[in-house]
Amino acid sequence: MKIAIASGKGGTGKTTVATNLALAASDEGMDVAYMDCDVEEPNGALFLKPEFDDEMPVEVSVPEIDDAKCVGCGKCGEICQFNAIAVMLKKVFLFPELCHGCAGCWLVCPTGAIAEARRATGRLEMGSAGKIKFIHGLLNVGEAMSPPVIRGVKSHAPQCDLLIIDSPPGTSCPVIESVRGADYVILVTEPTPFGLNDLKLAIDMIKALKLTFGVVINRADAGDLKTREYCREFGIEILAEIPDDRRVAVAYSRGDTAYHSIPEYRDIFNSLLERIVIVVDKRCVSADRRQK
Ligand code: SF4
Ligand code: SF4
Repeated sequence: MKIAIASGKGGTGKTTVATNLALAASDEGMDVAYMDCDVEEPNGALFLKPEFDDEMPVEVSVPEIDDAKCVGCGKCGEICQFNAIAVMLKKVFLFPELCHGCAGCWLVCPTGAIAEARRATGRLEMGSAGKIKFIHGLLNVGEAMSPPVIRGVKSHAPQCDLLIIDSPPGTSCPVIESVRGADYVILVTEPTPFGLNDLKLAIDMIKALKLTFGVVINRADAGDLKTREYCREFGIEILAEIPDDRRVAVAYSRGDTAYHSIPEYRDIFNSLLERIVIVVDKRCVSADRRQK
């Protein structure tokens, strides 16, 4: 079962939900893997405190120009849709950080002056946090494109009962890359006008991807009722409400989890886990029936 945790905006408590859910599932005896796909700012490790035993670079394809073979025809610059290569006064200028590795330039070059080279844009670290298998991706400083690193994390997903994907915030390409293929998406939000606005954007994205989702309201008693009303009106399931609790913030600031530091939070995350397992199982049963 693959569960992605996402949110329309940063700072809503996405990693809090993801890490605490991983701990709850592990304590239930499930074989759990936690994959931090928030590769620009992976902070799941601050709370789960994994020990790493393996790492590897994430590389992307980039052109390498052989000036001796280049005749300055400009075809590489014309085909590049990402402004990663330009030809001026018959000289080729390359901007590797904009390159999407599409291969267009080396396929179009009439003289074979462009070869495919590899460039590291980030790295993966793998290990374990107790019984939880842990993997996160780290985008190199200054790199603009996180999807290759996210794909790197996802391609190393271990076999397990429950895969928890901590997605980046927002609704753009990196989030889409993270949640793609998930059995279920948990959207974490706050009951504020900004939170609701970003939740609606996230819901539009998840619906466009045809994924099933539910909502967790964090700091549930700190805002207004509009998020609950919206969910009720559109038949969106609220999976859990997490109170606005100073003790959670204090635990967080120490790198502790609510699950480990505040006894009653075990019930919140155990119930959330139970709810998700029921919803995903039900969905799988109806999908099986549809196929028969
Ligand atoms: S590989 Fe594609 S994106 Fe990169 S420079 Fe060549 S044409 Fe542009
Ligand atoms: S397509 Fe090849 S030959 Fe033409 S400018 Fe680019 S690198 Fe030079």
